[in-house]
Amino acid sequence: MTGHEPDGSWSAPGRVNLIGEHTDYNEGYVLPFAIPHRTHVALGGRADGRIRVVSTFDEVPVEVPLDALEALFPDARDEVPEWSRYPLGVAWALLHAAGRATDAVTGVDIAIASDVPVGAGLSSSAAIESATAYALNDTWALELEPVALARSGQRAENEAVGAPTGIMDQMASVLGREDAAIFLDCRTLETDVVDLGFTANGLELLVIDTRVSHAHSTGGYRERRASCERGAQLMGVPALRDVQLTDLPAAEARMDEVTFRRVRHIVTENQRVLDTVRTLREQGPRAIGDLLTASHASMRDDFEISTPELDTAVDTALAAGALGARMTGGGFGGAAIALVEDELRDAVADAVRTVFTAAGRATPHIFTVRAGSGAGRD
Ligand code: ADP
Ligand code: MG
Repeated sequence: MTGHEPDGSWSAPGRVNLIGEHTDYNEGYVLPFAIPHRTHVALGGRADGRIRVVSTFDEVPVEVPLDALEALFPDARDEVPEWSRYPLGVAWALLHAAGRATDAVTGVDIAIASDVPVGAGLSSSAAIESATAYALNDTWALELEPVALARSGQRAENEAVGAPTGIMDQMASVLGREDAAIFLDCRTLETDVVDLGFTANGLELLVIDTRVSHAHSTGGYRERRASCERGAQLMGVPALRDVQLTDLPAAEARMDEVTFRRVRHIVTENQRVLDTVRTLREQGPRAIGDLLTASHASMRDDFEISTPELDTAVDTALAAGALGARMTGGGFGGAAIALVEDELRDAVADAVRTVFTAAGRATPHIFTVRAGSGAGRD
């Protein structure tokens, strides 16, 4: 796409969050895993100090001088198309993180292709950020560690794109492991690998992409984030991570009903993540179904980020025999996941499709995912 052979190719995966939704920016716990769907970045150097990005997502290339990045982000980001702010923003954030001047690195041509569904809650955004970060880190010999690369992806998303998201997606995309989830403490960024063992236990994880895109999610996300900040303030703690289950009666007395329900989702969700990690380790994956389903109920009733399509997907999967199911991702659309026995996989998928069709809804995309490896050079 750039007219000459690339110097190399890198890739990074999307992710599914098994459990722990909206807990990341509350400095709590999450348990995502990297999926086999990946974003690929081919990169070639150029001598003129410019950076050009092109993607199958939008064939029109975007090209700017590297020394213009500083003026572009964050204040003048509207001057470039939104999708290009992800890779260009990563370049900007990486140079900051490494303390490297733009004239100390070579110009680059970056070509991007991806099979991560966009806007489905599978974090195509973290995939493009992480793949670009790995490509530039190697090419520019920045020697940043994986966690620093994840942070640069987050900074790009927060400041260059303007989406106030947490660090979970980038950490999952960077640290993903085969057949394992990444237990992440979003306060300390400490991680632990947790074996999933789905295949060994005759289980599959179905992703049900409702294809109802979360285009209007930004406002809802910001509003939930503000509620959580208000809740933490009213509890006199730095973040909702510091509120325990036993504090909930005190919380209820101290805030309005809606804020309390937002707080209760975060507090109970953090506990469910800890319970899921312990259950996976002590009893295996078959035993986590109820925790997944309880997480969905909390997002539907307390955090109010589900949609009729996601509720239908979850309810139908459970009725057809799934061990547990929940919406995944930021909400307001996107995908649900369902943990199912191998032999029930097709029956559950068919049941969901049938119910959607009968309701006159778009047919969901349904596929299974296994936990795959994180970002790296191909
Ligand atoms: P999600 O991360 O759930 O897929 P987001 O709204 O966070 O949804 O990110 C999607 C956006 O990321 C797209 O609208 C686009 O701007 C950008 N993006 C994702 N993948 C690519 C890609 N391969 N090429 C260009 N831009 C991409
Ligand atoms: Mg995203």
